[in-house]
Amino acid sequence: MGSGEQKIDYVFKVVLIGDSAVGKSQILARFSRNEFSLDSKSTIGVEFQTRTLLIDHKSVKAQIWDTAGQERYRAVTSAYYRGAAGAMLVYDITKRPTFDHIPRWLEELRNHADKNIVIILIGNKSDLENQRDVPTEDAKEFAEKEGLFFLETSALQATNVESAFTTVLTEIYNTVN
Ligand code: GDP
Ligand code: MG
Repeated sequence: MGSGEQKIDYVFKVVLIGDSAVGKSQILARFSRNEFSLDSKSTIGVEFQTRTLLIDHKSVKAQIWDTAGQERYRAVTSAYYRGAAGAMLVYDITKRPTFDHIPRWLEELRNHADKNIVIILIGNKSDLENQRDVPTEDAKEFAEKEGLFFLETSALQATNVESAFTTVLTEIYNTVN
């Protein structure tokens, strides 16, 4: 394949949701460009970023949508969820309220998104263990009850970010094949 062109077998849309400042944009920056910034203002108001990866020898283009500051309850429009095959539901392990709001975000998803959407619950900022406010067990239990995948990540340290996306994209891939 010359001049950097690549055959794309699948395009999967995945949406990032969760309260403001939990690290959604940095998770996306880490996944799409392997970058991280401690300055949240560096978030550009782009709609989505893409990265193409191989799953089962097929090239899968992940189109990851970021809310760009519309996190206020019910401000995220149905256009955002339209066509999404996957969702990453993010909270901050150092801020209990961001976890307590997860059921609302899940309800939003279930109201607006496809009913077969693949969902992963993500507890971000796992590098801040000394400030932990959400026990891993609580989140694990919630995820099991709701049938969600679950991982704790650190966008800063690049821990589990790749796994989180791979988990969602592989599950989507498996459901369409
Ligand atoms: P968003 O509003 O959910 O998009 O959150 P941002 O991605 O803008 O991140 C909010 C703040 O948390 C920024 O200052 C980030 O640098 C910081 N942040 C994001 N992810 C992590 C992480 O994994 N660890 C730490 N320590 N800080 C993070
Ligand atoms: Mg953001």
